[in-house]
Amino acid sequence: MSMNWQDIIGHVNIINNLRRLTSEDKMPHALLFIGIDGIGKFLAGEILAKTLLCNDGTDMPCGSCRSCQAVDSNIHPDLFVLEPDGKTVQMIKIEQIRQMRSNIALAPYLSDKRVVIIRDADKMNEAAANGLLKTLEEPIGRAFFILTASNEKKMLPTILSRCMKVYFSPLRNSDIESILQSRGLEKTRALTIARLSGGSAGQALLLHEHDGLKNRADAYSFLTQVLSFSDEDIWMNADKLAKTDREKLSEWVFYLQMFWRDIVVLYHNETDSNLYDIDLKEQLIQQKSVWLQCFAFQAADYAAAVQHRLQTNTDIRLTMEAFIIKLRDLIRS
Ligand SMILES: [Zn+2]
Repeated sequence: MSMNWQDIIGHVNIINNLRRLTSEDKMPHALLFIGIDGIGKFLAGEILAKTLLCNDGTDMPCGSCRSCQAVDSNIHPDLFVLEPDGKTVQMIKIEQIRQMRSNIALAPYLSDKRVVIIRDADKMNEAAANGLLKTLEEPIGRAFFILTASNEKKMLPTILSRCMKVYFSPLRNSDIESILQSRGLEKTRALTIARLSGGSAGQALLLHEHDGLKNRADAYSFLTQVLSFSDEDIWMNADKLAKTDREKLSEWVFYLQMFWRDIVVLYHNETDSNLYDIDLKEQLIQQKSVWLQCFAFQAADYAAAVQHRLQTNTDIRLTMEAFIIKLRDLIRS
């Protein structure tokens, strides 16, 4: 399939600016695309790379030159893509940066330049970040760098200052609905998922493919029961959750976070339509009296700490057990 700018949903101003920079030959040496996951930053990076590498050199890839064909087949020798790697904790490591450095030191094969895309550049260990900084400071050959990240705070300020920052907004619900409907989802389901996706098409597709609505239903049933858990319930639930894969577990915790958020919103205004779980509004109003406002705040804090721990190499079972005990004991304190 031949990728081009029209494959990107939304982000019209950003695309126009990037096209203008390429046609005027003013593309900065390093760009950083910032925004939540799953909204097209990486795709935009790929199409920009294809445009820069295209032998026809306009503001969009021609789609038919050898360079464009090579990008489409994922075999372009002058395009280097770095992504986080690892079984439990996904990180970009110094070996990957070293390999990229030696790769871009060679003369380009198909184009007159090289392009490096670094996906999730905020997931980099210290050695890798320093290696990248060195590469940006002393460019080798004619290379362009396109970095993507969801959290610029996790990046070295010295790297940030060397990149032109481009901020990508979350997608509109209607855009996500049409993506889902184009994949055959019926309208009401597409609407619910779009609402839950937080503006991320990636998240919406995960919800759809990973049976996210079932995961949310599980989280809701946990919410309604946890305050009356026995010690044995705690043990059993921690055990069950520890067997879930990290990504799905993180999603499950995220749903709990959103329930508590919605409960706080409803506490202030029952008619608020700005709910994440709008379809569960009546049930959440019931939950409001159980999760008194201060408990909901505290619970959301605990959940945020769990999310943080899930990103590290932590013992999941112990983490989940401690989390559930803290929640259960909220009402007893
Ligand atoms: Zn081309």
